[in-house]
Amino acid sequence: MEVQFFLMESNRDKTPQPAAEAAYVAAGLGPKTVTISTSMDHKQVELRLIQAYPKLRQLPGGWLLKKVYQGGSGSRPLIFAPAGQDGYPGKWFQKASKTTKFYVAPMQFDLPLEPLPDTAEEFLDTPKTECKSCSKKVPIPLLVDHLARCETV
Ligand SMILES: [Zn+2]
Repeated sequence: MEVQFFLMESNRDKTPQPAAEAAYVAAGLGPKTVTISTSMDHKQVELRLIQAYPKLRQLPGGWLLKKVYQGGSGSRPLIFAPAGQDGYPGKWFQKASKTTKFYVAPMQFDLPLEPLPDTAEEFLDTPKTECKSCSKKVPIPLLVDHLARCETV
């Protein structure tokens, strides 16, 4: 099944503003769709998340999932999505609604929100397009930002 995640930089009480999403993507955080099967245990789910978000690999202190408490727009309140005895295995996600987005909350350390270089492993599988000014291949989610700061423009 396809599960929607959003990696946050810290254990936030509210979702980031939609306008801030681009900054999260540029930092290797933000929204990602991850394929999880019901046979996976917690460790396998975590490995999938690390593939999607390499920054999680070096996160001491672990992470938990949160979800939006109430609908609405802008920055919405988040509550913990409690893990079971066996963590967050594939079966846990099966019970969740298909439209639920899970916010990954780093618990004891924060992640940097600085933009990653265009060549970071976070963007290996991201489609790229060539910048006409500097001829670099730029990941599409970073293109607006790149064009704004490309030195040769
Ligand atoms: Zn450029």
